[in-house]
Amino acid sequence: MSNQIYDIIIIGAGPIGIACAIEAKKNNLTYLVIEKGCLVNSLYNYPINMTFFSTSEKLEIGEMPFVTTNPKPKRAEALEYYRRVHNKFNINSQLFETVLSCKKHKGIFTVITSKKEYQAKNVIVSTGFYDCPISLNIPGENLPKVSHYYNDPHYYANQHVIVVGASNSSIDAALETYRKGAKVTLVIRSNEISPRVKYWVKPDIENRIAEGEIDVYYHSNLMEIQEESATIKTPNGIITIPNDFVLALTGYKPNFKLLESFGIELDYKNAMIPSYNPNTMESNIPNMYLAGVVCGGLNTHQWFIENSRIHANLIIQNIISNDLS
Ligand SMILES: Cc1cc2nc3c(=O)[nH]c(=O)nc-3n(C[C@H](O)[C@H](O)[C@H](O)COP(=O)(O)OP(=O)(O)OC[C@H]3O[C@@H](n4cnc5c(N)ncnc54)[C@H](O)[C@@H]3O)c2cc1C
Repeated sequence: MSNQIYDIIIIGAGPIGIACAIEAKKNNLTYLVIEKGCLVNSLYNYPINMTFFSTSEKLEIGEMPFVTTNPKPKRAEALEYYRRVHNKFNINSQLFETVLSCKKHKGIFTVITSKKEYQAKNVIVSTGFYDCPISLNIPGENLPKVSHYYNDPHYYANQHVIVVGASNSSIDAALETYRKGAKVTLVIRSNEISPRVKYWVKPDIENRIAEGEIDVYYHSNLMEIQEESATIKTPNGIITIPNDFVLALTGYKPNFKLLESFGIELDYKNAMIPSYNPNTMESNIPNMYLAGVVCGGLNTHQWFIENSRIHANLIIQNIISNDLS
């Protein structure tokens, strides 16, 4: 452990963690960002062809222009942008180092990682939600052919693919794999494609379904996954269809265990929303702040980069005013 006590330790180098670091730097506070994976790890793990629903200026941080030739940037452009911004501000970050615990004693936090121990007066938790997929909890879910993440459509060429879910991720995966020659079946719990699906994508999937090019089972649930097939409970009975891969894109959730181990209270009656003051983003633990999409608990549609990048300013201003008082 070094003797340095940082003003702030920021957990997670996603867009919002980096935005917090930029604000800290601009205000001459000492800080360190600790990230378990690569820089903007969640974005790195998004599907290779993913297009953001936001226009590029709404994804900007640190007042750095995000220049793209199309209004909606692609994953690769976002990786390039956030890396350039991170490096331009010479952000002090440790990558591939996981925060395991964080305890406060006599006004100082000790943050223990997979590599070291650090101390800080303030901690910002900006850990997102993309690390913890929501499980189906059905037999066969642990088979290697089942994944909660989708990357490259080519992999699924000429295979029987089941895509579970009706959100943007599921619909992108269904359309892309279909266009690489997969035989795609969508299994959807509700009676429709999510109204949140990108407005320029929704007609495409609806037409593919209407033309019989992509199969869909509404009001249905995957019951069991076998080596070469899968069993679906549909309104017309239980059916078993041939299957090579399952993309269970059923959403993600923040790492609640980690948050609770820090002492952050979760609202069990309201989507496990972590406790924080919306004016300052300070959690129930004084000097521990929440930033970015982690704030939504299970409501992962509540916060995006667009509307949570303001957390950086709220938090740093609060830290400065606490220091002055
Ligand atoms: C497919 C998809 C498309 C999206 N499209 C848009 C869009 O168009 N516009 C928009 O505004 N938002 C969009 N979002 C939402 C938002 O962009 C992302 O969720 C964004 O990554 C949130 O930023 P963040 O910094 O809060 O969290 P994240 O980017 O998830 O960053 C959290 C970081 O914390 C790290 N971390 C977690 N635990 C630890 C630990 N214990 N120790 C160290 N590091 C840790 C993670 O590795 C990660 O890098 C999209 C989300 C998804 C999933």
